[in-house]
Amino acid sequence: MARREYPTIRKISIWLDDHLWKPNGYTALRIATHKGWVTIDYEPHKQYWRYVNRGWRLAGEAKIKLDKRNRRIKIYFTFVKDVENYEPRGYISVDVNENNVSILVDGVAYIFETNISKTVLGYYYRRKRIQEKYDKKYGVRSRIKRKIIRKLRERSKKNDVRWKIANLIVRVAYERGYGIVLEKLGKRVANNMVKRIGDKQLRHRIYQASLRGVQKAIAEKAREHGSPITYQPPKGTSTTCPIHHAKIIYRNGSRIGRCSMGGELWHRDIASIWNLYLKTLRGDGGSAPSLSGYKILDGSPVPLGSTATHEFTALTLGKGLWTRWNSLDADINPYKIMGMSI
Ligand SMILES: [Zn+2]
Repeated sequence: MARREYPTIRKISIWLDDHLWKPNGYTALRIATHKGWVTIDYEPHKQYWRYVNRGWRLAGEAKIKLDKRNRRIKIYFTFVKDVENYEPRGYISVDVNENNVSILVDGVAYIFETNISKTVLGYYYRRKRIQEKYDKKYGVRSRIKRKIIRKLRERSKKNDVRWKIANLIVRVAYERGYGIVLEKLGKRVANNMVKRIGDKQLRHRIYQASLRGVQKAIAEKAREHGSPITYQPPKGTSTTCPIHHAKIIYRNGSRIGRCSMGGELWHRDIASIWNLYLKTLRGDGGSAPSLSGYKILDGSPVPLGSTATHEFTALTLGKGLWTRWNSLDADINPYKIMGMSI
């Protein structure tokens, strides 16, 4: 009988526990089989070396996949790294909006125009156009369409402003030994921009990308570097004057408002980052009056005041960083990457 009486197996992938395999140097491993230990040499992906060189170590499990068609096996390793959070010597507060990310570093506020929502929208519509065009031409399940969309996705990922911003913030924090303060987003309804969009899926996508997405990226980067993160409740952060603890009045949807007690002007995002910062210093998360605010703002008590309205300061965060900030120009207008002094 020529007929095969056993099933042929095309795809096999197995998880190996740590007692079933062990590394043998950096380019080989030994696997326990029913015929004893077998040594397999492998050719590492360049990403593998990146992790090895950065002090990551292999976790006790590996996934092995038989690729029958190409007569090879694929090995998936898991890397782990123990990172201990350092004790923060200070804080950087970060406020994320749909079109900018503001940070407060050593008393200087920086606003990054990111236009994340526009970028996300652009990507969404481009993808939709591709889909429509290729669906008409080649049908819904065409390979060529999938390939083009994958390319588009890769490109948009590479230029993903979220990761650029996250890298930058965490690097600034790490270099100074600072912690990072973020706003607790909770279930707060997204901003006006998102509310205007009828398409539910698109709304969700933009919201994710613009607010949560940036925060998630920052948190992930911070974890890698052991930078501690503190979340503060958003209540009143942009509407309370950091100096007088009085209400800031914004008129006609303006992002610049006036303190109802001191009469000084505040940029909404700058008030936010100051309040996030002060809340963290006070450690109570509340908005009870505290002297800590006066101490910090001493000497420059008039934010966006009459003489210093929109005074921009040069970046003082080091040359290396400036070139990096500058190189973000694909997504961020470099002329707008400036600090706003208080
Ligand atoms: Zn005030």
